[in-house]
Amino acid sequence: MTELPLFDDADVTRLLCIVAHPDDMEYGASAAVAKWTDQGKEVSYLLLTRGEAGIRDMHPDEVAPLREGEQRKACTIVGVDDLEILGFPDGLLEPGIELRHAIAKKIREFKPDAVMVSNWELKSPWGLNHIDHRAAGIATVDAIRDADNPWLFTDLADDGLEAWKADRLLITGADATHAVELERAHVDRAVASLEAHTVYLEALSDHPAPSDMIPGITSEAGTRAGVDYALPVQVFDM
Ligand SMILES: [Zn+2]
Repeated sequence: MTELPLFDDADVTRLLCIVAHPDDMEYGASAAVAKWTDQGKEVSYLLLTRGEAGIRDMHPDEVAPLREGEQRKACTIVGVDDLEILGFPDGLLEPGIELRHAIAKKIREFKPDAVMVSNWELKSPWGLNHIDHRAAGIATVDAIRDADNPWLFTDLADDGLEAWKADRLLITGADATHAVELERAHVDRAVASLEAHTVYLEALSDHPAPSDMIPGITSEAGTRAGVDYALPVQVFDM
């Protein structure tokens, strides 16, 4: 008996992925992105920070462009051309009006039918979560609603960005309700996309090898869904 139903992604055509940092999409989510871009779906990444505080022994001024470059490489590997990186402060992200406004603006611009974020709970299945991931998730949930409310952020409407409803929210790294079926080739590209964060990973001495980690995550979810590989996701209708 399979525990996780497969996620029916047939009617997802435009997906906006919103994360706090360069590399956040690369822990399994990018495997599903590789599948979807192969299928001709439009996928856009919105990163809220440049990840400049992520390498202990390097100055943020040096780290920000480096991590941006590594993220662009990772995006290319999984077929994503549309990468926007905002300059909110890494490590100090707050889920306030400014962040919600920035996310709502992107939602109204890109007009996704689904939004993907990573888990925002303090206690996640893999341990205690990072403050920026928590802020990014909370702000995204609120901004999805804000983007659909014509009476909020009317300055966006003045700029021609009308209210837009994103119908579905997909959360990675959370208690899964569904599984996105993957092929091994998608998993391999996800491994390569994580490996693209070369300097960042080198600075983390205890980081497991991407070639162990990503097949591990996706084969475990695959087993739960009765397929070889899958990305576990929690799905909400908005
Ligand atoms: Zn992160």
